[in-house]
Amino acid sequence: MTFKILSIFPDIFSSYTKEGIIKRAIEKKQIKIQSYNLRDYTTDKHKKVDDSPYGGGPGMLMKIEPLYLAIKALKKKKSNKKKKIVLLSASGKKWNQKLAKKYSKLDEVILICGRYEGVDNRIKHFIDEEISIGDYILTGGELPALVMIDSVTRLLPGVLGNKDSSLEESHSDYGILEYPQYTRPAVFTANSKNYKVPKVLLSGNHKEIKSWRKKKMKKNKKEM
Ligand code: SAM
Repeated sequence: MTFKILSIFPDIFSSYTKEGIIKRAIEKKQIKIQSYNLRDYTTDKHKKVDDSPYGGGPGMLMKIEPLYLAIKALKKKKSNKKKKIVLLSASGKKWNQKLAKKYSKLDEVILICGRYEGVDNRIKHFIDEEISIGDYILTGGELPALVMIDSVTRLLPGVLGNKDSSLEESHSDYGILEYPQYTRPAVFTANSKNYKVPKVLLSGNHKEIKSWRKKKMKKNKKEM
């Protein structure tokens, strides 16, 4: 699967993608991450990507021309590949595990990262979807793009060491949260208090452990 990211800060991504599961997925050729500088698609000598909003108001907006030229170039020719062009936007569809699963079936996603006060609204004619990662405002679309890439990559076949990991995680089944987990030591002492791992997990009785875990998995009522 290929992720193409369009940003005015294309170097932001390399530190995150050089570590852990994402790094391994790139090395194993399960994903490709390519970042593109929006300024490379400007046609003026100052490489201007922003301008003030018509009608007035605070801040600057990203101009439509470089965005259009970049999308056109990144889309390249028509193919049978399953692709989506996404604008990261605080007013977009809320990202969740269900959407991540849907996106994990695609071959290519183009992620457009806004900055400043946002993007000229005419971009809506050239994208497939607007995605928000939550009801708060970030400085730019770069973190949301990484959030999407990370959550989709975990779902791709063979990316996680244990194939059950992504099946038993919170939200893997809509609205269900993972059971509590513990590791050594069995008793942890702090401030003269003992914090014990539940007995059943030390019992070695897999049937009882399974039923305890099932009981502990909570329905996330807020999301339902
Ligand atoms: N004026 C915009 C508004 O009120 O929605 C916010 C612009 S924000 C400072 C700059 C860029 O960050 C946005 O264009 C978008 O790409 C990105 N962004 C900010 N918050 C986001 C969120 N919650 N989800 C996705 N992208 C976000």
